[in-house]
Amino acid sequence: ATPTSIMVGTGRAAELGVLFRKGDALQALQSVKVVAFDKTGTLTMGAPVVTDIIALFGDENTVLAMVAAVEAKSEHPIARAIERAAAEHDLTLPAVGRARAVAGHGVSAQVGDHQVLVGNGRLMVREGVEMAAFGASLEMLEAQGRTPVLVAIDGVPAMVLGVSDRVRAGSKEAVAMLHARGLSVVMVSGDTKRAARAIADELGIDRVEAEVLPKGKAEIVAALRAQFGQIAFVGDGINDAPALASADVGLAVGSGTDVAIEAADVVLMGADPRAVVTALDLSRKVMRNIR
Ligand code: ADP
Ligand code: MG
Repeated sequence: ATPTSIMVGTGRAAELGVLFRKGDALQALQSVKVVAFDKTGTLTMGAPVVTDIIALFGDENTVLAMVAAVEAKSEHPIARAIERAAAEHDLTLPAVGRARAVAGHGVSAQVGDHQVLVGNGRLMVREGVEMAAFGASLEMLEAQGRTPVLVAIDGVPAMVLGVSDRVRAGSKEAVAMLHARGLSVVMVSGDTKRAARAIADELGIDRVEAEVLPKGKAEIVAALRAQFGQIAFVGDGINDAPALASADVGLAVGSGTDVAIEAADVVLMGADPRAVVTALDLSRKVMRNIR
């Protein structure tokens, strides 16, 4: 490719809201064989809502207030959903002592004399909480494709919340357009297998890598590259900056957190996943004209 044609290509892309931070990305994108998407915040809005509140032990409002107080210490989108639910119930939140957010797991904090855990099954298992009491609620929520949020107080299962996130307009079409161009599409998520599968089915994605820890996303990029060839990773930068950086082409979407922009080769303005296809088509067109 001549430097001039790449310059013209990246200029045209910028007009379409696709910012190539490096000229080689325009070239690399045309030979991509597989596109891996982050789920939360990329294919979905990343603004989940609480759909279910199931008390297992203790007074529902008291437990919900403790949970919301603990989540105030977390940056995760699920935490914002739970804080909003508590506000809708007009709850006054108790003071929280030492708190610790564990990436890909949840949060643990001291509330008064109580130790409160809020997160997924992995967090409960890690902290030695007996999972049996969560069973029926967990099963019911997962069957509906919701993300279960488990709560234990002093090691005893106390509540299960159901959380659900809407898919973005354009996600389904973006997947179909990539398939039509002969590419494989994979969804990568830290969410449970069944919640991730439900979203993937809705979008027509056949391959799902779920329950992936933040540090595991980059390892999956490497594994997919070995299987398919050149890989593009599309993410919003929350928990996936290493994957963006290690892909052959990293594309940052959405409002674009600073880390995402730093780690990405391409920045897509706006949050429409179809911009990935715009970028790909442009890359193919520019490279075709050159040969
Ligand atoms: P993703 O972006 O795919 O949701 P994360 O690694 O951010 O992946 O989170 C993985 C999982 O960890 C979440 O789906 C949730 O089950 C759990 N989790 C993480 N942080 C919290 C939190 N603050 N409250 C409840 N659950 C959490
Ligand atoms: Mg995300």
